[in-house]
Amino acid sequence: MNNNAPLHIVILGGGTAGWMVANLFSHKWKGKNVKITLVESPDVGIIGVGEGSTPTLKRLFNMLSIDESQWMPRCNATYKLNIRFNGWSPQSGIASYSHPFPSQIDTFNTRAFTVNTRTRRMGLDTTTLPDKFLLASVLAEQGKGPKTPDNFPFNVEYGYHFDSHLLGEFLAERAQQQGVQFKQAHIKEVTRDQAGNIKSLLTDTGLAITGDFFVDCTGFASVLMQKTLGVKFNSYKENLFNDSAVVMPTKLDKEIPVETESTALSAGWCWKIPLTERFGNGYVYSSDFISGEQAEVEFRQHLNMLNSETECRHLKMKVGVLSKHWSRNCIALGLSQGFIEPLEATALHLVQISAEIFVQQFEAGNFTNKHQDEYNKLVSERFERVRDYIVAHYKLNTRDDSDYWRANRENSHLSESLVQLLDVWFKREDLGLEIERQGISTHFDSISWHCLLSGYGAYPPLHPNQPGKGDLYKEKNVQKFIQGCALNFDSHAVNLGKT
Ligand SMILES: Cc1cc2nc3c(=O)[nH]c(=O)nc-3n(C[C@H](O)[C@H](O)[C@H](O)COP(=O)(O)OP(=O)(O)OC[C@H]3O[C@@H](n4cnc5c(N)ncnc54)[C@H](O)[C@@H]3O)c2cc1C
Repeated sequence: MNNNAPLHIVILGGGTAGWMVANLFSHKWKGKNVKITLVESPDVGIIGVGEGSTPTLKRLFNMLSIDESQWMPRCNATYKLNIRFNGWSPQSGIASYSHPFPSQIDTFNTRAFTVNTRTRRMGLDTTTLPDKFLLASVLAEQGKGPKTPDNFPFNVEYGYHFDSHLLGEFLAERAQQQGVQFKQAHIKEVTRDQAGNIKSLLTDTGLAITGDFFVDCTGFASVLMQKTLGVKFNSYKENLFNDSAVVMPTKLDKEIPVETESTALSAGWCWKIPLTERFGNGYVYSSDFISGEQAEVEFRQHLNMLNSETECRHLKMKVGVLSKHWSRNCIALGLSQGFIEPLEATALHLVQISAEIFVQQFEAGNFTNKHQDEYNKLVSERFERVRDYIVAHYKLNTRDDSDYWRANRENSHLSESLVQLLDVWFKREDLGLEIERQGISTHFDSISWHCLLSGYGAYPPLHPNQPGKGDLYKEKNVQKFIQGCALNFDSHAVNLGKT
């Protein structure tokens, strides 16, 4: 890095991604010769959804030394211990299961959980519902928060729910206190130098904002990466069908739950996220299977709001990812980089992970493009493995109420990694070892995969010598599951298909 003039990093876009990244960079490069400017259009609003996080967000606040008492009340935030999936696999006899954030104390219970899942795959009657084993699920069911007394020797893992507008405002204020320059300007044009690098952003009032390095946080518009640098966008449509959402707030119940609910509807699923002032709700659906109008009616019915005056907001989603996350003197973060639909609330998690990897690689290359390829490989791998976990939710469903669910079940566009995971499971082998072998546990770990497969009741019929007293896996349900799932224990490899 030139020791005289500061390296000028320009972040374009002031949604949650832009302000998260502004905070992260200004913290990491405090005292270094780096100047950060964030530019936001006064004419283009932020997407204004994205109200659930993974525990990774806790790491960001800890790193920035921001206490929960400072930010949570300002952002109407609540604790999140798990996601509860309702109605995704009715034919297995399981109405609902929980995917919790695993805690330190679960180290002891996980062994019992995974041993039981293996035993059950052998046809022996044993309990395998994740809710019975993992602490966060038990707390969530009892409506208890994750905070423990000082003398409790284990941490309890959790994420957050928050109002995305308020979180953006909080992060914007904080970043400016840390020295980030803020400019409100709509960018109309982008100039490039002879080598093709981005040189400046031209505002609609004729001003030029120059920089050395640019971060595209312009949401689905992807002004720098797609529109300026022409980086190719790869759609995920072949195995993630949802492309739209309709959203609406509702009033809180008496008690504020500590979980996100995700309920399967006829052409997608609906989230319910508790904040301190309201519930956020949204129906994520595929417009190939249901119109926006029909989706709104179904959504209102589901919320018991059919005759309510409250308006719904309709959104389009661009589901897929850039072929390169770092091109020339620019990276994309947030929706401009890619989006894997919100089922496991992984979007902001991926923003933070990508930004952290970028900091490491940029520093290792002495603030040059030296480690661009390495960065692209690492971040693409993150997106692909998270995508697999989401795709598995659709592939394993046992709903029979619409073509949407049948098409998802029959879809054979699965990655090699996902095929291997399912293959090992249906062959009754050790799934944990396979996850280790593939080196993919940093994306979704063995516990998460066991929760998913067990939560869907993906098990064979009980062995004939078993008493069959298991309340969940009634023989007829399992038979239906196997017929419905197109994946089964006796011809496990037949229908997995390959991309
Ligand atoms: C239905 C749905 C549900 C979601 N749920 C979750 C969830 O539960 N958890 C989660 O982590 N994520 C979720 N997400 C994703 C989450 O909303 C986004 O990752 C997050 O809000 C970050 O968005 P962003 O900052 O990339 O883009 P945006 O919020 O769209 O911000 C774009 C910014 O770019 C600026 N801009 C655009 N064009 C220009 C221009 N020409 N000149 C200047 N500025 C410009 C705009 O002014 C704006 O500030 C969800 C997304 C959708 C669609």
